[in-house]
Amino acid sequence: MKIITSVKAMQKEVQMHREAQKSIGFVPTMGYLHEGHMTLVHTARKENDLVILSVFVNPLQFGPNEDFDSYPRDFERDEALAKNNGVDIIFYPQVEEMYKDSFSFEVKVVNKVDVLCGKKREGHFDGVATVLIKLFNITQANRVYFGMKDAQQVAIVDSLIEDFNFPIELVPVSTVREEDGLAKSSRNVYLTEQERKEAPRIYEALKSAVSYVLNGEKNTKTIQKSVEEHISKYTSGVIDYVEVLSYPELQAVQELSGKTIIAVAVKFTKARLIDNITFDVEA
Ligand code: AMP
Repeated sequence: MKIITSVKAMQKEVQMHREAQKSIGFVPTMGYLHEGHMTLVHTARKENDLVILSVFVNPLQFGPNEDFDSYPRDFERDEALAKNNGVDIIFYPQVEEMYKDSFSFEVKVVNKVDVLCGKKREGHFDGVATVLIKLFNITQANRVYFGMKDAQQVAIVDSLIEDFNFPIELVPVSTVREEDGLAKSSRNVYLTEQERKEAPRIYEALKSAVSYVLNGEKNTKTIQKSVEEHISKYTSGVIDYVEVLSYPELQAVQELSGKTIIAVAVKFTKARLIDNITFDVEA
C-alpha cells in the first residue's frame, strides 16, 4: 500500500493506472476509520482494480463553532486498517496541499440544502462539494463510494456528478451499525458512557416510526412527533432536527408516499450524531 501526500504525485500515479486500463474505486473519508468506512472499502475492492482511500479532514466543511480542531485523528491506526482491508493507495494531503492561498472560486450548492444538515450547518455542503470536485479530479476515479449514513450528502453528490458531468458512478452503501443499532461514526468516541448507552435509542426511534408507517400511518407530522418523543424520552441528547422528506429529492411532504427518509440529528455533550432510515411507502 502506498501513501501519497502530494496532488501532483497522486495525479501521476493514477495516470499510470488509467493508461494500463485499470478501473479505480475511490473512498473519500475524514479518517479515524471504523467498520463503516471499511465496508465502503470492501465494496470498492470487489468492483475495481485499484482502491484509493483519502484521509482528509476538510476545514471547508466545518462551521466556525464546529469540531474541526477536535475532530478525532489517528493516521497510524488508519494506515494499518486501510492496509489490512485491501486499500492500494491512501491519499493523505495536508490542508496547505489542498488549499493554496490563492483560490479564485467558490462552490455553492443551491438545491437540497435548505433541509437537514444543509439548513443547520450553513456552508457545510459547499465545503463538501468543493473538496469532492478536487478529489474527483485528482483521483480520476471510475466509481466513488459513499455511506447512506450521510444520506443528504449522497443526494447532493448525485447532483454534483450529474450537473458537472463527472464520468463517475456513485455507489451508495448501507449504514453499518454497532450490535445495539448505533450507527458507526468517528464521533462516537466523544459520547460519555451514559450517552453511549442512550444513543441506540435514536435508531430505535427511526425503526418504530417505520413500523407505524407500515401499519398505515401516513401523516408526516405524526411520524416526526413520534421520533422526537422517543428520543426526548430515552436520551439526554438535544434534538437538532427530525425531518420526514421524500428521497432523494429531499422535499417536504404532508402525506407519505414513495421513497421516503426520516433523518435526525441529536446533540450530546461533545458529539452531534446523525442517523436516518429510508423506505418505500406504497400508495
Ligand atoms: P467521514 O469520514 O465521516 O466523512 O465518512 C466517510 C464516508 O464513510 C462517508 O461516505 C460516510 O457516509 C461513510 N460512513 C461513515 N460512517 C458510516 C457507517 N456507519 N456506515 C456506512 N458508511 C459510513
